[in-house]
Amino acid sequence: MDTVGAGVSGQIPALENLPPMNEDGASGMHLYQPWWLYKQQKAGKLNFARGYHIEMSGGRGMPGAGAFGGLQSFTEGAYGADFKQACRRYYGTFVHFAGRGEMIPNENSYAELDPTVVDQWGIPVLKFHWQWSEHEINQAAHMQKTFADIITGMGGKVTSNIETDGRKAIASGGSIIHEVGGTIMGADRRKSVLNQHCQAWDVPNLFVADGAPFASNADKNPTLTILALAWRTSDYIVEQFKQRNI
Ligand SMILES: Cc1cc2nc3c(=O)[nH]c(=O)nc-3n(C[C@H](O)[C@H](O)[C@H](O)COP(=O)(O)OP(=O)(O)OC[C@H]3O[C@@H](n4cnc5c(N)ncnc54)[C@H](O)[C@@H]3O)c2cc1C
Repeated sequence: MDTVGAGVSGQIPALENLPPMNEDGASGMHLYQPWWLYKQQKAGKLNFARGYHIEMSGGRGMPGAGAFGGLQSFTEGAYGADFKQACRRYYGTFVHFAGRGEMIPNENSYAELDPTVVDQWGIPVLKFHWQWSEHEINQAAHMQKTFADIITGMGGKVTSNIETDGRKAIASGGSIIHEVGGTIMGADRRKSVLNQHCQAWDVPNLFVADGAPFASNADKNPTLTILALAWRTSDYIVEQFKQRNI
């Protein structure tokens, strides 16, 4: 499973001509909007399961190389002092909204040992199968519309393409770098690799304490859940060891 991603950019006139200041260290990357449409989802008003959070970016940090690339579409041929003035006016008025959503596990997305390819030690490598379902595709389309509505709601102008087709809006699998669930945990040994203690059904003294046991990937970043599961697994190992079960 991976994280669903899609984004929209915009320009906000209300941010123009602010006094120059360096906001390095306090940028929009520190803003995080949790999922908010639980009630609509429960009432069956959304065409996808589970939610997504929003990460906003923008701000007026120290300009880096290329900071004013693309500004010409706003500066209407300004040159020299006029262009410099236009740069001051527009700098820090551009925002980006990125969605990070939960993927619903599906039977077309799984990893297996490659039947032919091996690594340099002769060990079969993993082979991944991947397919987004309608849940993720509809969720990505919802992100696009929501982000565009936020930008226009602030009196801004959307500067990127708004994709109503979620298939085109959704980022490719793996690009949000939150892949988990390679050895999924579950209650049924025929449908999962690990039990609820992250212990392999087939090899009792094998425990997996990383992102691989996730049964699903909530829209949140995975690391704290990895730590919590590893902690719980460690407690279980100690308890089982004391009982001489492993
Ligand atoms: C750029 C980036 C930014 C991220 N930012 C965040 C964030 O802000 N917050 C957050 O919660 N998560 C973030 N993540 C995701 C988080 O880092 C991962 O979900 C987490 O590290 C996964 O842990 P893991 O132990 O399951 O896998 P990994 O950390 O990938 O560990 C797998 C290990 O297995 C080793 N390995 C692979 N194959 C073999 C082999 N055949 N034999 C022996 N060893 C092998 C690898 O070398 C590696 O050390 C980010 C990820 C990336 C890439």
